[in-house]
Amino acid sequence: MNKSWAIVNKLLPFSCVDGPGNRLVIFLQGCNFKCLNCHNPYTISLCKECGDCVNTCPHQALSFINHKVIWQTSACQQCDTCINTCGYHSTPMTYKYSLEDILIMIRKYLPFLNGITVSGGEATMQLPFIEKLFKTIKQTNDLKHLTCFIDSNGYLAQTGWQKVADTMDGAMIDLKAWNNQVHKKLTGRDNLRVKNTIIYLAKIKKLYEVRFLVIPEHTDLQDNAKHLAQFLTEISPNIKVRINAFHNHGVHGIAKTWKSATKQQVETFADQLKHYGLKDIMLPSVYL
Ligand code: SF4
Ligand code: SF4
Repeated sequence: MNKSWAIVNKLLPFSCVDGPGNRLVIFLQGCNFKCLNCHNPYTISLCKECGDCVNTCPHQALSFINHKVIWQTSACQQCDTCINTCGYHSTPMTYKYSLEDILIMIRKYLPFLNGITVSGGEATMQLPFIEKLFKTIKQTNDLKHLTCFIDSNGYLAQTGWQKVADTMDGAMIDLKAWNNQVHKKLTGRDNLRVKNTIIYLAKIKKLYEVRFLVIPEHTDLQDNAKHLAQFLTEISPNIKVRINAFHNHGVHGIAKTWKSATKQQVETFADQLKHYGLKDIMLPSVYL
């Protein structure tokens, strides 16, 4: 893949929940998991340029030129008809940004930023771009004070993490289930590589946070608090853990019928993790 541009789903100028401080977040298109509970399934695939969505747009914001879908942002009313038409878990509403485009946007908000976070989809699906972006930031005088983080599902192999080990300041990793079969059912992929990622990033001091999503009856995290805590405390009892609560608002497919996590369920899980030795646990600030 060309290292100098990325397919971006969305860029958020300010976030205080995607790593430390105030951060600009780049959400890249494409993911290697197919989570049943995905809130943004249209970020899973890159557009196949099939053109199926073009004529469904009620606002003539899409056209098909030279076998490519063209999205006219000024005409788009964000009605999501195209997303609901697409049979490939994709969207025509993405941006192809060059490295220079991204640097211009970072500089626009620079006085207010502590750093940038690359998220997704799955950020590491476009690792060559991240390598180039982080390296450029660290080598550029007016940008090198920014910290560079990745928000990831942890599926990247160690050889991939090694490519950004020198320029990445930290990573947030989701562990979606303890048992491999449960993880496979939820995401379509095994969790061995996710666990290896957590161990490896902690070893090189680049693990910022491990994230758990409580989904009542569908993930096994709560039943395995002891195993999870043992796994993490062996790395360090001070490892930062963030617990998120599943809510079924905005999910698609089967997960629409799943129950949302309650405050009590999340707090019980947090108490168990603490009981088994974890010290730094953050709870959700809101429950839906
Ligand atoms: S969201 Fe999609 S279908 Fe709706 S106006 Fe925008 S491009 Fe058209
Ligand atoms: S967004 Fe989906 S339906 Fe539209 S052109 Fe791309 S792959 Fe086809």
